[in-house]
Amino acid sequence: MNDMHDPSDITTGVLADEAAIVAAAHALREQTVALLSELVTHPSLLGHEQSAQRLVADTFESMGLQVDEFQIDEEKLKQHPAYSPSIVSYDGRTNVVGIHRPSGPFKGQSLIFNGHIDVVPTGAEVLWTGSPFSGRVEGDRLYGRGASDMKAGIVAYTMAYRALKSIGLEPASPVYFQSVIEEECTGNGALACLVAGYRADAAVIPEPIAENGVMTCQMGVIWLAIEVLGKPVHASVAQTGVGAIDFALYLFGELKKLEEKWNAPSARYRSFAHHQHPVNFNLGKITGGEWASSVPSSCRADIRLGFYPDRKVTQVKQEVEALLAAAYEAHPAHAALTYRVLYEGFQADGCHVPDDAPIVTAIADSHFDVVGKKLTTTAFTGTTDCKFFNLYGETPAICYGPSGGANIHGIDEWVSIDSVMQTTAVLAVFMARWCGVNRLQAQAAQDAVPAARPALHSV
Ligand SMILES: [Zn+2]
Repeated sequence: MNDMHDPSDITTGVLADEAAIVAAAHALREQTVALLSELVTHPSLLGHEQSAQRLVADTFESMGLQVDEFQIDEEKLKQHPAYSPSIVSYDGRTNVVGIHRPSGPFKGQSLIFNGHIDVVPTGAEVLWTGSPFSGRVEGDRLYGRGASDMKAGIVAYTMAYRALKSIGLEPASPVYFQSVIEEECTGNGALACLVAGYRADAAVIPEPIAENGVMTCQMGVIWLAIEVLGKPVHASVAQTGVGAIDFALYLFGELKKLEEKWNAPSARYRSFAHHQHPVNFNLGKITGGEWASSVPSSCRADIRLGFYPDRKVTQVKQEVEALLAAAYEAHPAHAALTYRVLYEGFQADGCHVPDDAPIVTAIADSHFDVVGKKLTTTAFTGTTDCKFFNLYGETPAICYGPSGGANIHGIDEWVSIDSVMQTTAVLAVFMARWCGVNRLQAQAAQDAVPAARPALHSV
């Protein structure tokens, strides 16, 4: 289907029929499943995002959006306080932004939809049922790495726009549809959009955070690596050496005491007061040693630390480094060992948008009117690209996305197709309200029905 319209066919000032918008979104179910399934078959792991980005760029172009595709200028990003040290080269890897500029008068507020195209590693493929990138559909579920986190979100905002255009409407203010790389380890893709100058009155990231929830608060996250050099000896006299792997595990054990301290009720940031376990330190990867008969000479431990949004990366680093230094001194064999701390990947502060911010109430109202359920604000114990918009972009940002998914970052990740369709409908109504709409004349006669806000969920 070609959604392009002749700009000369514009009339203005006609209210959207929101029930028709919801119906138009649901009418795109087949196309939505097809696009999501295809997108999942592109294995857009870190450093391999490009074929998926090509599909997104082509899709944007086919909907009449202007496409801005650009590579990340890392030297420029390094000047920005929110830069996180990258772990792979940016050569040949691009962000894609689909730009909508109204053909008629500007009436409402501008908007950014942002989603990340990169997916996390699959883990041991033997644990998966079939290929991790199959994109297969079983009943209401679409399976594959990235299906839920968060290709479904990218497809939902894409189809929301298509739904408006399919009934002869267009947003009456600029909308930027961002598909960015590298959210899962640095966020430098979204940061590059910010540095390129993209701003709006609000940003929505359709991450799969919580059912009937809008995420307004998120933790800070730091990635650090501890590199240890030990004292290698023959395994037959292992007691005379000091194993680098053992020492790395010892240091991580000491770090876990800090995690416990920050999880104590009295130490908590208010948004996490009732959370089960908000602060998580994860030893995600450990590499080291030579073979079974030598006490290991070296080891590297890659660790992820979460921390509350009222603290800063610099403070956390100081506290962690002081703890590690004290743990080192306290170890009886420390004279035979050295260690150093490296920071690669996330160096991300947390953030918190007020519950009464216009973007929060606008999303909540649209969700209620379309779904018939109250949306609650939630706090996330991880990080998302919201931080860049909120902390550095003067663009209030929240996460609201498909909720019926499971196993993100785990095995047999899936997303509920009903949930994707529901999100598409809500985002379409929200976009029409937030941006206003212009009516394309060719459709004006058949769609000139007054707005019908209440009871949309009965449609
Ligand atoms: Zn995500």
